[in-house]
Amino acid sequence: MNRTALALAGLAMLHVGPAATWLPAVRRLLPGLAGVGAADHVALTFDDGPDPRSTPRFLDELERLGCRGTFFVLGEMLERHPELGLRIVARGHEIAVHGWGHDNALITRPGRMAAEMSRAAELVTAVTGAGPAWYRPPYGVLSAEILIAARGLGLRPVLWTAWGRDWTRSASPASVLDTMAPGLRGGATLLLHDSDCTSAPGSWRSGLGALPELVDRCRSAGLRIGPLRDHGVLPGRPAPREVYETTAV
Ligand SMILES: [Zn+2]
Repeated sequence: MNRTALALAGLAMLHVGPAATWLPAVRRLLPGLAGVGAADHVALTFDDGPDPRSTPRFLDELERLGCRGTFFVLGEMLERHPELGLRIVARGHEIAVHGWGHDNALITRPGRMAAEMSRAAELVTAVTGAGPAWYRPPYGVLSAEILIAARGLGLRPVLWTAWGRDWTRSASPASVLDTMAPGLRGGATLLLHDSDCTSAPGSWRSGLGALPELVDRCRSAGLRIGPLRDHGVLPGRPAPREVYETTAV
């Protein structure tokens, strides 16, 4: 396969979903970056919103379950629906930065990811009145530029330890639960999506449908489930050593 074909294959793979094959290495070497937290807590996180078609459904379900989470929002979505951002915070959840658009750091021009991260963080602050603490890049792709920009903004990069592949066309509540089951343990950071704006239409319903059982399984196992702020992974700047090690993974 020549270089162009390889690049195209890589792009095609990236569009399948947040496929970060190096995550196991990150979890082993940098548990804080992967989102590993306190042994008696599970962090619940949602990406890609806020979306008027789906986010309110998640907020109502989480309210019913008496559970809070962290919403990694896109600036372009929050700009269109600031009232949803306010509602997320008013319901006791945490808002974090996922980017402005949903670009992949591997294929954007230098400087763009940093500028978009800064713009999104400013918007979150303007809408909610509080600065965000966390950043999760689209597709989980980290770069030196992203890590340095996040550090400058006081955002702590955090990925995830378990996902439910809820973004796929064939996902169902049962498939999400099955996919997540092996990673459902104390200290886990769970990745779900409260919007289908970057994935298969209607796929958010699979994550929403999995929530009651997900919360029940955690609580039955004696685990607390909630936002990253309660997860025991302290917000703030990553240590320089962490940055350098990350770029080498
Ligand atoms: Zn995303």
